[in-house]
Amino acid sequence: MEVPGKVSSIIYTLEKAGYEAYVVGGCVRDMLLGREPHDWDITTSAKPDQIKRIFGKTIDTGLKHGTVTVMVDHEGFEITTYRIDGDYEDGRHPKEVSFTSDLTQDLCRRDFTVNAMAYHPARGLVDLFGGEEDLKRGLIRCVGDPAERFSEDALRMLRAVRFSAQLGFDIHGETRKAVREMADTIRVVSAERIREELVKTLLSSHPDGLRNAYDLGLTAMFLPEFDRCMECPQNNPHHAYTVGEHILHSLTQVRADEILRMTMLLHDIAKPVMKTTDENGIDHFRMHAVVGRDMAEKILRRLKTDNKTIHAVCRLIEWHDLRPGLTKASVRRAVTCVGEDLFPMYMEVRRADMLAQSDYYRKEKEAALDQIAQLYQEILNQKEALSIKDLAVNGYDLAEEAGIAPGPMMGEILNALLEQVLDDPALNERETLLELAKRYGSQSGLSLGAEAKR
Ligand code: ATP
Ligand code: MG
Repeated sequence: MEVPGKVSSIIYTLEKAGYEAYVVGGCVRDMLLGREPHDWDITTSAKPDQIKRIFGKTIDTGLKHGTVTVMVDHEGFEITTYRIDGDYEDGRHPKEVSFTSDLTQDLCRRDFTVNAMAYHPARGLVDLFGGEEDLKRGLIRCVGDPAERFSEDALRMLRAVRFSAQLGFDIHGETRKAVREMADTIRVVSAERIREELVKTLLSSHPDGLRNAYDLGLTAMFLPEFDRCMECPQNNPHHAYTVGEHILHSLTQVRADEILRMTMLLHDIAKPVMKTTDENGIDHFRMHAVVGRDMAEKILRRLKTDNKTIHAVCRLIEWHDLRPGLTKASVRRAVTCVGEDLFPMYMEVRRADMLAQSDYYRKEKEAALDQIAQLYQEILNQKEALSIKDLAVNGYDLAEEAGIAPGPMMGEILNALLEQVLDDPALNERETLLELAKRYGSQSGLSLGAEAKR
């Protein structure tokens, strides 16, 4: 195993000053897996003020928890003093932390065996809990007694699900059992931390690992709407799974992007509440997309998601079932519904949704999506108008040249012109549009509406 030069030089600098130091945690795990660690955490017997004295350039990252960041050529490395976490009072945070000079005690406080290994460039691996063996067997297992560890910090239950999804590992039997028994204590964890772990799970290489969170009773606490989906069969030839299993499959079919994965997670969230069964016993879910948008907004707000993500996800959910006809006019209209910014993602959502359905009409569905993608590309290539700003006239032109008074009528007329141009891009010429605008201007608002909707 190879530790970067800057990291080993930090370790040796600490040791020359008379302290011990190791790399620890996620980076050791990733090194053993042959993956490139995304950061290098160093743990040491030196206390924070000693670390600061040894290195000239440091940043106080979390002094209370013993973390100092050392800068080496503009690159920051976190150094944390060996630590014992005191009693946990609120199921989340230790009342106090104390420093120790014993590495063993520091490793004991860590969550899972695969995260509780230390490594030294000369002395090699320190693996007190069988972490290397669990890495080989593909297991997430608590250090020590799982129930005790989860009662200290309930977030660890979701971390278990997240690491199992990221690494493609199973959760060890006793650790599973403890999560199942203690799942309701996830309530004490803030919505932000829950969202953070949920998003990491969704963005992992096994986003369907969220199934563990359902099986173990965690989603029942923070996403009960998803549990209803897992319990909702879809007796319909287009489907092969329950709503929940369809959602999990669709997650694996879409690119690892927060907006896309969140959209797949929530796209059918309203199906259980919108389900009807016809006289032939076939299930239908009319209006689930619009109702789903509102449910998704509530859920995302509850999870303290940022507005930008909420707006994008909700718009994609609202339109995820839109099936434009296979003509350019129809695709242009679809773009105006979904929005130009999100239309490429809408196509990705539809493809993932389709791939998680039954094989029924699979070939035809795929061909239709390919066709829509091709028509969309032609529309872009030909720079056809998709919104009012793309029209060959603007409000100023209409006022000056067509005698339209500024006001609400102006907006209506611009919309009516866009409607015409969406049907027939050839109309997007200045003179033609001015003529049309003059005609509209001489009609009443009501008949104008009728004209536009023709
Ligand atoms: P990654 O950064 O790749 O998501 P990581 O293992 O580095 O994974 P972090 O959350 O950065 O995870 O935490 C660093 C280390 O600190 C972990 O490997 C683990 O040893 C320890 N740790 C972090 N959070 C907890 C916790 N809630 N309870 C116990 N130990 C923890
Ligand atoms: Mg980390």
